[in-house]
Amino acid sequence: METTFKTDITVKDICEGFVYNELEGKGLFGLAGKLTIQPEYQRNYIYASDGGKKEMAVIESVLKRYPIGLIYFNKVSDNNLEVLDGQQRITSLGRFLTDKFAIKDENGMEQYFSGMAKDKQDKILKTPLLIYECEGKESEIKEWFKTINIAGVPLSDQELLNAVYSGPFVTLCKEEFSNSQNANIQKWGAYVSGSVNRQEFLERALDWVSKGNIGDYMSRHRYDKSITELKTYFNSVIDWISSVFTDVESEMRGLEWGRLYEQYHSKTYDPAKVSAEVQKLYGDPYIKSRKGVFEFVLGGSVDTKLLEVRVFDEATKKAVYTTQTADAKTKGKSNCPLCAIGHDANKSKIWNFDEMDADHVAAWSKGGATSAKNCQMLCRTHNRAKGNR
Ligand SMILES: [Zn+2]
Repeated sequence: METTFKTDITVKDICEGFVYNELEGKGLFGLAGKLTIQPEYQRNYIYASDGGKKEMAVIESVLKRYPIGLIYFNKVSDNNLEVLDGQQRITSLGRFLTDKFAIKDENGMEQYFSGMAKDKQDKILKTPLLIYECEGKESEIKEWFKTINIAGVPLSDQELLNAVYSGPFVTLCKEEFSNSQNANIQKWGAYVSGSVNRQEFLERALDWVSKGNIGDYMSRHRYDKSITELKTYFNSVIDWISSVFTDVESEMRGLEWGRLYEQYHSKTYDPAKVSAEVQKLYGDPYIKSRKGVFEFVLGGSVDTKLLEVRVFDEATKKAVYTTQTADAKTKGKSNCPLCAIGHDANKSKIWNFDEMDADHVAAWSKGGATSAKNCQMLCRTHNRAKGNR
């Protein structure tokens, strides 16, 4: 990658031909049309939020000759540059110069650019900016993007991918999945976690359809003019979840629904039974992981590991071990009740505490409690043989 450091571009140059699109919330062009300030893949303009403190700070910094930091351009061609880093600052400058907002003067009076004294206007216009112009391959730019974003609010992985694979596909993707005006967002939000603005819904949709190979998928579809496959797959997953699980629980948000869909969508479920099962498990005080309930039910209520059923505590185990061992010794039998009824050499073996594990006498899955009454100590081998219940 080649970089050129430039110090001869002024605020005036950068803001020449500046266009701000209110509807999209973006600063669009500068440098007389040569510069794309906020390409499709960039975040929307956020400096105007929070009462505009940030955008005012940019102008005040310029007036006080404080540095506003390095700006990075990506040189697409001789006549086309894109802002890689600095779009918020440039948009602030452009918005100020076109009277979109005012700053407060020494007396606390609002001051728009057009109403400022000529010398102050000139001071702003003639301020040079520190710009790195870079030219390179996608992979290099991606790597470099990561580096420059260490300092600021880092781009999320998906924001980065949107930048690297920008094009018609990403534009369509964002219209559907990164658009907070989309009426479906609320429904999706029951199952997908994260923020629409930070591209997390889009990331999930791409993750599901690509089975986890988002970059690869985006690269293959980069120039597609349709996102039908992506939309259809995403909607299939969402529809499947809401038809199997009729109740929406907060623990459903952010589960690996793409994987679960792939694994279970060809099975049939009775939604009424599923609902009753989920409610029963939700009411079970021994279940530590409610997030695991859904996969547990989908898998036929077998894999109790998913539920993280509460285990016996050390005190209970030691107490049970002591009673069990004392009793076994008087009878001359093994302190593992399963060894004791066997016919090999272990039938009278007294195991040490650390050679044994606690077991539910009545299986948890059959209603057995995690209390001393329902606890027995088994040797490791027998405990494992009984399985994780
Ligand atoms: Zn045993």
